[in-house]
Amino acid sequence: MIGELMLPSSPPLVLILLGPPGAGKGTQAKLLQEKLILPHISTGDLLREHIRRKTPLGAQAQGFMDKGNLVPDSLIFDMLFERTSHEDCSRGYILDGFPRTIPQAKALQDRLKDKPAPIVLNLELTDEQIIERLTKRVICEKCGTPYHLIYSPPKVSGHCDRCKGVLIHRPDDTEPVIRKRLTVYHEQTEPLIHFYQRLHLLHTFDCTLDKKEVFDHILSIIKG
Ligand code: AMP
Repeated sequence: MIGELMLPSSPPLVLILLGPPGAGKGTQAKLLQEKLILPHISTGDLLREHIRRKTPLGAQAQGFMDKGNLVPDSLIFDMLFERTSHEDCSRGYILDGFPRTIPQAKALQDRLKDKPAPIVLNLELTDEQIIERLTKRVICEKCGTPYHLIYSPPKVSGHCDRCKGVLIHRPDDTEPVIRKRLTVYHEQTEPLIHFYQRLHLLHTFDCTLDKKEVFDHILSIIKG
């Protein structure tokens, strides 16, 4: 499949990027998007776009996001499943930041029940490494590409290598909010590791490695 990558006749491929905030889900999703020509769907990016456009959904979501809490499932489901119904998702898609709770994972399994099982890519990093990464992270305002100011800075300071968009600090990338997001991750999202392990769909990656090494490892799993 990889090389020719996805042939028009390939069955739809759904990839789920699981892991704490800052483990590299967005980075790996962008690399996979380019390699597999599949849409990258980040629920965080979709929500930030609603906030930017000042939609009613954005207004409801913002308070939860600013505090580092999860946005209620009722707001997430319609937004996500509307997006996955678009024509560009017919060959599959890459989910980044969804599912984040057991009810979300169950709702997704239900949606996918007549389709090939998803591949779940679990990215691992310790809490202290995450805090170090996220406090120095900037993202592109336009396309969401993340950069680390020390380890993977943009070529031109302040601008995205991919689309030349302006790089910003996310308002929820401050240490107190990051710590809250980590608590929420351990309580509500980490149980998904066991959920997908039981379904034999989980593959775990050590994200202390260089992003290219992690990416090569992910590709070898997808090829397999
Ligand atoms: P992210 O960009 O994935 O780090 O998400 C940023 C914030 O958006 C999270 O801290 C949550 O407040 C919210 N969010 C993103 N995805 C979800 C989801 N699947 N369920 C609930 N809240 C979400």
